[in-house]
Amino acid sequence: MILKKYSFGIGDRFGHQGKAQLSALVKAKEQGLDITPVWNKSHREHSIIGTVPDDVRKEADSAVTALKWDGAYFVDADHIGLDNVDLFLESSDFFTLDVADFMGQPADKADVDSFVRKHEKYIGSLAVDGIDQALNITEEQIRAIAGKSLLAVKNAGAIYRHIEAAKGAGNFITEVSMDETDQPQTPVEMLFILAAIADEGIPAQTIAPKFTGRFNKGVDYVGDVAGFAKEFEQDLAVVAFAVEQFGLPENLKLSIHSGSDKFSIYGPIARTLKKFDAGLHIKTAGTTWLEELIGLAMAGGDGLSIAKEVYAEALLRFGELCGPYASVIDIDTTMLPTIEQVDEWDGQTFAKALRHDQSCEDYNLHLRQLLHVGYKIAAEMGTRFTDALRKHEEIIAQNVAENIYDRHIRPVFGV
Ligand SMILES: [Zn+2]
Repeated sequence: MILKKYSFGIGDRFGHQGKAQLSALVKAKEQGLDITPVWNKSHREHSIIGTVPDDVRKEADSAVTALKWDGAYFVDADHIGLDNVDLFLESSDFFTLDVADFMGQPADKADVDSFVRKHEKYIGSLAVDGIDQALNITEEQIRAIAGKSLLAVKNAGAIYRHIEAAKGAGNFITEVSMDETDQPQTPVEMLFILAAIADEGIPAQTIAPKFTGRFNKGVDYVGDVAGFAKEFEQDLAVVAFAVEQFGLPENLKLSIHSGSDKFSIYGPIARTLKKFDAGLHIKTAGTTWLEELIGLAMAGGDGLSIAKEVYAEALLRFGELCGPYASVIDIDTTMLPTIEQVDEWDGQTFAKALRHDQSCEDYNLHLRQLLHVGYKIAAEMGTRFTDALRKHEEIIAQNVAENIYDRHIRPVFGV
């Protein structure tokens, strides 16, 4: 299986918006832009919501049938490890091997030595097409990178072979993710991690590094945009170089996780993709669920009541909800409206505070982040929430599709 040049990860917490999400890609196709949809969900998300991997497969299949999508599509077992991969073997055909936990754990000295020997020809001044200044590589640098990443890559190899044994080689897409590490990877680090991935025999088609700057959930990029642009360009150059040098799959491309809503870097991303004629996989941060809340609020009546209730409950359970996401959210609690204030709001006011439109003065990124992690509250509402999703499907679907097409696909892929 081959993942084409452009692909888009559409995570969907509650599994109700498959059709609406896919309709955005149908629209892109009508504009001549071929983007492969990939429905992704992690084990953590499944456990919080109470869904199982097969639910995602059903959602994807039924959306594809309903919209008569004739292109490829995939179901991604997102951020899996050896301890939970089995749950996904049947329903997934895309596996994101998460090596973050093992990054930084010291590798075997003999493995490090043989890695350094194998790649010693890169020591010295290394010219990489697309990077203006030659990279300066030292033996110590390769040794250090191998020391902290070989164990992680070995672990990815073990997961990969486990999947391969069950599904057969070539019957699934492999991504390696290290975006949930503490430190970003430099382009040079990524180069040697890719060497290790090739040595391990993992046919990775996408690689998700941790980039510089903050990729907070559901809000804009926080960091030095020019610095990001330079790093992204070098990363693309390194990926192309690694494909040629290490024999990795020709379609290997970068994967950006928590890539939704990062409006300030979409311009540089679009320009750099064009410059390198490179592909991209971009995963959204599960923000489709926020569009559901916006749609419910706009519907008024019972929909608006649910939206308000979710907010009130999320505010009361702030610590519990935000704790697990502490490293990927930044909420200034003094900027959060009180429960009483929100109670006074009409549907439009709620929608404006939540919708990610930075030109709107009522947009509140603190409220948006809190609601983003508040999906557990909606999950606990059970059928009351999902029945409301069905009842107000039309207005929700409109928000879901618009968000993906207008605020994401157009700026990222430059339509
Ligand atoms: Zn990730």
